[in-house]
Amino acid sequence: MSDYFDEMGWTPLRDGEAPNSLLQMARFLRNVGAWDMLGMDEKLPPPASKAAVEALEEIKITDADSKKCPVCWEAFKSSEIAKSLPCKHSFHRECIIPWLNKTNSCPLCRHELPTDDEDYEMYRKEKLRAVEREKDLEILHNSMFG
Ligand SMILES: [Zn+2]
Ligand SMILES: [Zn+2]
Repeated sequence: MSDYFDEMGWTPLRDGEAPNSLLQMARFLRNVGAWDMLGMDEKLPPPASKAAVEALEEIKITDADSKKCPVCWEAFKSSEIAKSLPCKHSFHRECIIPWLNKTNSCPLCRHELPTDDEDYEMYRKEKLRAVEREKDLEILHNSMFG
């Protein structure tokens, strides 16, 4: 039976890999080269800011055998240059740059990079503030009733 994943050019999960729709999406788009399809899903955050992308650390792969690019699942070659995100996840340049030009989060762990989108940044700050408020309330609650 040719399954759904084959038909979609979608890579099934490997052993020990947790389900990660974002990563699956990145892998799929990389394989078919259809980066433009990303962003049609309105739930994705806006692209990473150009400055943030340019500021990404470049690392030289020294221990090639132990590292694989999470998007294409190909092992890095020794002395190859990889892009390292602030979350310390490394990717091929051609695997992560088109992705970050579409949305700002690491496909592996969803760590978010800054965006150029003011509305989104406002929303994000507001969200953080809400979390802080909740924590404060909890502390207050605990100090009163704890
Ligand atoms: Zn790659
Ligand atoms: Zn990450």
